[in-house]
Order: sequence, then C-alpha cells, then structure tokens
Amino acid sequence: RAERPWHAHYPEEVLPAYPFPTGNVAQLLLNAAENMPKQIAIRFFDSKMTYESLRDEAYRFANALQEQFDLQKGDRVAIMLPNCPQLVIAYFGTLLAGGTVVMTNPLYQEEELAYQVKDAESVILVTLDLLLPRVLPVQAHLGKQSIIYTSIKEYLPFPKNKLYPLKMKKEGHSLHIPKQSGLQGLQHLLYSTSPKRCVVQVDDAQDLALIQYTGGTTGLPKGVMLTHANLLANTIQTTTWSYKLQYGQESYMGVIPCFHVFGLTVLLNQCTHMAGTLILMPRFDPDEVLGHIQKYRPTIFPGVPTMYMALSHHSRIHDVDLSSIEVCISGSAPLPLEVQQRFEALTGGRLTEGYGLTETAPVTHVNPIWGKRKSGSIGIPLPNTDCYVVHPDTRKPCSRGEVGELAVKGPQVMKGYWKRPVETAQVLQDGWLYTGDLATMDEDGYFTIVDRKKEMIISSGFNVYPREVEEVLYRHPGIKEAAVIGIPDAYRGETVKAFIVPRENTSVHESQLDEWCRQRLAAYKVPRHYEFRDQLPKTIIGKVLKRALIEKQMEQKSTH
Ligand code: AMP
Repeated sequence: RAERPWHAHYPEEVLPAYPFPTGNVAQLLLNAAENMPKQIAIRFFDSKMTYESLRDEAYRFANALQEQFDLQKGDRVAIMLPNCPQLVIAYFGTLLAGGTVVMTNPLYQEEELAYQVKDAESVILVTLDLLLPRVLPVQAHLGKQSIIYTSIKEYLPFPKNKLYPLKMKKEGHSLHIPKQSGLQGLQHLLYSTSPKRCVVQVDDAQDLALIQYTGGTTGLPKGVMLTHANLLANTIQTTTWSYKLQYGQESYMGVIPCFHVFGLTVLLNQCTHMAGTLILMPRFDPDEVLGHIQKYRPTIFPGVPTMYMALSHHSRIHDVDLSSIEVCISGSAPLPLEVQQRFEALTGGRLTEGYGLTETAPVTHVNPIWGKRKSGSIGIPLPNTDCYVVHPDTRKPCSRGEVGELAVKGPQVMKGYWKRPVETAQVLQDGWLYTGDLATMDEDGYFTIVDRKKEMIISSGFNVYPREVEEVLYRHPGIKEAAVIGIPDAYRGETVKAFIVPRENTSVHESQLDEWCRQRLAAYKVPRHYEFRDQLPKTIIGKVLKRALIEKQMEQKSTH
C-alpha cells in the first residue's frame, strides 16, 4: 500500500501534500468577495451577479434562516432547485448559518422526495414555485414545516413547459423582490434587513456541510455525510490538479447539475475558490449550450460523456467557435475514446477523464490534464489520495494488473452514511473506502475501471465486464449508444445482452454487430441478444440507468 507509482507523474507544481484550509466552506465565497468584489460570479442567461452581491445575498438568506426560522447549527436544509442563482445563494447562505445542505433532485416525484425529507430529517425545503405541487404534500414531514420558494420565471427565455411540465396549483404567489436584489423573489421569505454578517463557526472535521443522496443506480438511496473538511479538501485537490488555472480569470460552463456532488464541487466550490465566473444553465440543451459557449466563452467545461457526445454530433457544431474551451473534465461514467478524440479535435482543448463517487466528495482520480494521459483509464489518484486494488471478497491486495475492487483513502472520503452504521461499516474500514468498482492498476500507477462489482456478468463461469463489451460496440460506426447487461440463462447462468441506439439515418443489423464483436472479443463476451432502441434510460446526470434495463428485462421474462 505504501507504493505510490503515480507520484512520478505529478507535475512539479503539484505537491503531493499540502495543508488544506479549515473552517466553513462558505469562507470560499467570503474570500472571493473580498479579493474580487466586482468580478462576475454568476451569469444566468442575460442576468449577472458580482461576488459582492452574491455574498450579500447569501448573508441575507443566512440571517433570514436564523431570525425567521430559528435555524440551529446542524439543522438540515433541503435545496430542491435546478441550476439557477438562487441555488448558489441558498447553498452558501445555509452554510454561513451553520446548516447542513441536503441537495435534492428537482425531478423527484412525491414519494422519492418524502423518503429523502424523512430520512435526512430536513427542517426546511427551498424550491421553485413551479415545483410546489410536488413539494407541498411533504410539508408536514419537514421539521419546521417550512417551504421557502422562489421563481425563475423572469429568467426564462425558453419554453417553460420543456423544463418542468407542471401547472401551478394556485395563482397569485407573486411577491416579487426587485430584480436588482439578485435573489429573484425568494417569495414568502421576508428578507432580513439586519446588517449582521453571520458566519457560524464549525468543527470542519466533524460538522456536516452536506448530506448527499447517492444517485440511486443501486438499491435505496443513502445519505452520504460530507463534512466541511471533505468538501474543502476536494476543492483544493481538484484545483491544484488543474494547476494552470488562473485566479479570477476562468469561467465555468455550469450545465451539470449543482445538486449532484460533481457539479457542487466543481461549479460551486472550485469556481468560487478561483473567483471564476459561473455560467449557469438549468438544463442541458445542446443548442443553448452552443449559444452560451459562443457568447460567454467559457474556459472550463465539466461534463458527462453523453453531453460531449451530443454536442460533437450536433448539426451546428462546426459553425460555433469553441476555441475558448481549455479544460473539460468528464466524470460519472466511462468516456468512450471516440468521444474524447472528436471533442478535443473540435475545441483544441483537453478533455480528460476523471473518476469519483458521492462518497468521496466526489473526485479521487483524474488523468493529468497537461501531462501523460491514458485513454480508457481514469488516470492517477489526486494528491493526498491513496489507493489500492483488493480481492473483492477477501480484501487482500491484488497484484499489479489483476482486476479487483478499488479502495481509496484521503481527506475527501466521507464520514459515513447518515444513520446507517451497518452500511457504513461495510464500505469504510480504517479510513479505506471500498468503492464497489472493479479496477486495475498498471505499472505507471494509472487505474482503469473495469466495471461495477454488481454489474459484472458471470457467463459459464467466465467474468464478463459490460464496460469492455460496450467499448467495442461504441467503436462501431453505426452505433450511437450502447449498454450491456447480464440476463438469466438456463445453461450459462447468465448471458450477455446489448441495448443499442443506432446513429441517426443509419441501420445496423444484429448480424453485423455479431460479426463485429466476434472479431474483437472472446466468444463468451459476445452478446447473444440485442435490443434496438431510440434511447436509453438515464439518470439525471446522464448515466445509463442499467437498473431500469435489468428490471424491464425481469418484467418481460415474468410475463412471458
Ligand atoms: P455517484 O456516486 O452517483 O456519482 O456514482 C459513482 C459511480 O459512478 C462510481 O462508483 C462508478 O461506478 C461510476 N463512475 C464515476 N466515474 C466513472 C468513470 N470515469 N468511469 C467509470 N465509472 C465511473
């Protein structure tokens, strides 16, 4: 475990150990506002807000939470908002007031929302007026039975019904706070006029900044407890990693959701730490993203593979000047090589693959942005992050190149699962987090994710890693998207099935794919079943929802 072959690849400027800031995460905002008060912190379509006013809005929100809602340190505040300025204000405001943020997916239906509110024991929920019909039924479960709602109507230059196709139950909620205030009508919240500038002191190693529910691609969502120290550490680790970033000079394309921990760390924390400009967009619409790139010239574009894929196949892609983009970090799912190469050729920037999970706030590995990258690999561990690969059952270290479960240790590793000591003990031992991902490490200390432990298919006793089969399918010119799962097979135990989304205006046949795979894969890995679809079910961040494919498969089987 003491071996760290990846250290040889750290750029000189990246020190393998350095002190992390301590204290409240909201200090990032206070620093940016002090150093660069007039710098534009947020762009949201045609509106903008400086760091100075963002800080003041966050203070006012914090004061209101304390004065009007009697918020106590550690109380949970659920924030259920798409990317918009109010999300940033509510996030930093809650932290300033000593609260714990519970980020909540705005697409949650009533049942999912009720589960999360009850599990996290949230006392207040901050949301949009448009979402009230789904939120009001859970009001009784909120500790303080309080919903704070806001409106982005004035900010909506796109068809409203495309974003949240919801009708408001009641009319006349409008109590608009003037646009200049930045906080577009946090209605029903009487603003604190108190000039008090509160920053609640925290014990950063113990106090929770965030309870983040995991994507829910496996099992019931669990709340991941992330302390102020966890979030600060990952902010510094990821910033240090992109060591060519310039203070006050960067702008971030903010299209991945901030209610996911990847967006939260990069867009909210890292961007603020760098006093950068956040170009916020409430949803991914390729046309709008291209328009924003042309107009606002972002330098950094964190995304997920499906976004880069959609943009690079867009009909207008060659008409847009993408040259401002220097760094793209792709996370959350494997990045197909073809997508990486295509997008880099288009922008002239670097698109590099990273890896992480909610439990690690979230980043643990990135391919060096300016150094040696290995395609198909997640790169090397961030500074101050230790890793090893273990046998999934015995947890004994594997030898180099052998496939095993990835274990990580570092200042970004969570405190545990909220109210779940048993599940915590299963994944967290002596500071090591067992990720459930199967990986290998090569001679240079680069890691490759082979698959999820749970997704591995065992066919006639052979291990098949869906990711490997998907990579082969993605290289086929007629395929736009592919997902591979295991289905029950009386003879082999399990067998391989591929779901295929063909590229527009092309037709692919099962027999062609079969031949393609047979030329490139051992016979036991070649899919025996294909299903062609127009699209694949995805999580909000764009990860293929394999569980949905598997469940559908089970249903079909039981009805036959
Ligand atoms: P979540 O906690 O929802 O962000 O999901 C974390 C999981 O996403 C990890 O455990 C991995 O299975 C998967 N993941 C994240 N990044 C990558 C990547 N670059 N390649 C493959 N899988 C990834």
